[in-house]
Amino acid sequence: MNSLAFATISELRAKLHDKVISPSQLLDFFIERFKKFDPIINSTLEVFNKDSVLSASSLHGPLAGIPGLAKDNISINGQNLTCASKILQNFKAIHDATAIERLKSAGALLMGRTNMDEFAMGSSTETSAYGLTKNPWDTSRVPGGSSGGSAAAVAAGLAPWALGSDTGGSVRQPAAFCGIVGFKPTYGLVSRYGLVAYGSSLDQIGIFSRTVQDTAFVLSEIAGQDIRDSSSLAVEKKDYTALLKDNLPAGIRIGVVRNAIEAEGMDPEIVSAIEEAISTYESLGAQISRVELPTLDYAAAAYFILSRAEAASNLSRFDGVRYGLRDKEAQTLSDMYFNTRHDGFGDEVRSRILVGNYVLSTGHADAFYQNAKVVQRLIRREFVETFKDVDLLIMPTHPMPAFKFGAFDVDKLQMDLQDYFTCSMNLAGIPAISIPCGFTKNNLPIGMQLVGPHLSESLILQAAHAYEQKTEWHMKHPEGF
Ligand code: GLN
Repeated sequence: MNSLAFATISELRAKLHDKVISPSQLLDFFIERFKKFDPIINSTLEVFNKDSVLSASSLHGPLAGIPGLAKDNISINGQNLTCASKILQNFKAIHDATAIERLKSAGALLMGRTNMDEFAMGSSTETSAYGLTKNPWDTSRVPGGSSGGSAAAVAAGLAPWALGSDTGGSVRQPAAFCGIVGFKPTYGLVSRYGLVAYGSSLDQIGIFSRTVQDTAFVLSEIAGQDIRDSSSLAVEKKDYTALLKDNLPAGIRIGVVRNAIEAEGMDPEIVSAIEEAISTYESLGAQISRVELPTLDYAAAAYFILSRAEAASNLSRFDGVRYGLRDKEAQTLSDMYFNTRHDGFGDEVRSRILVGNYVLSTGHADAFYQNAKVVQRLIRREFVETFKDVDLLIMPTHPMPAFKFGAFDVDKLQMDLQDYFTCSMNLAGIPAISIPCGFTKNNLPIGMQLVGPHLSESLILQAAHAYEQKTEWHMKHPEGF
């Protein structure tokens, strides 16, 4: 059995059930780990006071006494909610997000809020107003982003699970960089109520954990219809752990996305790790074929435009009147708006608001926004057609392993291309998981994506779990933690 720090949810449940440890002792254990290790990686903006954590939880239910974390763009009643931005520095959440409310009533212990790229805009957690998060596998490298804090904490054994948000890849890419599981559900399966909007038609709350079963435990609690979110799907709550077996569903057809594996700039070590994983799937009985997703080459550009357009609209609410920071020196209302937003938002956020307003403006909306919507429809159609021939797709999560801090300070385009393999699924609204599938010779984790049609989470989790049972990647942990 893993030590407590890297124990799975079912191992922790057994210990709590057998009273080997109490929820309060388990919480103390993780709080101590934070004190010891978080100064090294800075994964978390705040670890809450122990009494408030215990009293907020029902302490009964499937996750009774199991600690976890939430990205700092998900409301936890009474706690700060900053989106790692200066503009919300002292803002306190006035309600629980639906996912948080459900986790608390399932007995989970919400122990802190994790660092992220400001307003979830980025792929490295470098745009946080509250400092860098480091990758526990190599502290000279980024943990990925935007949910880098959640990924780093789970990888370093500071919590067994954490919530993130995925608009273009922000759960899957950091999970891949940190060697853990990252899952983005079907759009509408998990309520967005209480998740601060970035690109609302693309945003989904996602899950980080070290095993597929642990993700299934958390998903079983947070999924299901919520009348407070108008984009929520009419799906019943269910137990996603029930179908996890050592074998694959008989006759499963898996398509390997050839033009992703052969894409320019793919790191050869990542290609060979994925080819090896494909052989593992073959040995498990999957029927493997190679498929093409020609729209892949247009996804990042369409995502770039649509996410900025939605961000510009969503972030207009931060105006110094309703939330957070306000410039109190300004003599006129428009100066107050201007100064508050100028001082409150970081460079990345400001540049996205500018681009977003530009692509929506008269004279440009047809060329940019409307065209991107057309590309989005083509992407959706391509997935629908592809899933007539195969049940799931395999592709890389990322073309290269975790990069060094500042690597793309000059060549910003490279940063935006981080979403190359992940944003198609947000544009199509379909579920995808990133699971560990190897390491580079420099001991950096490699992730592989499994993608399925709408509401295929059970199948995706089954296929990911079966692979995990055959491999040992998920059992490796960064040294020194
Ligand atoms: N890297 C992407 C972006 O910066 C994805 C962010 C996300 O999924 N929140 O927009």
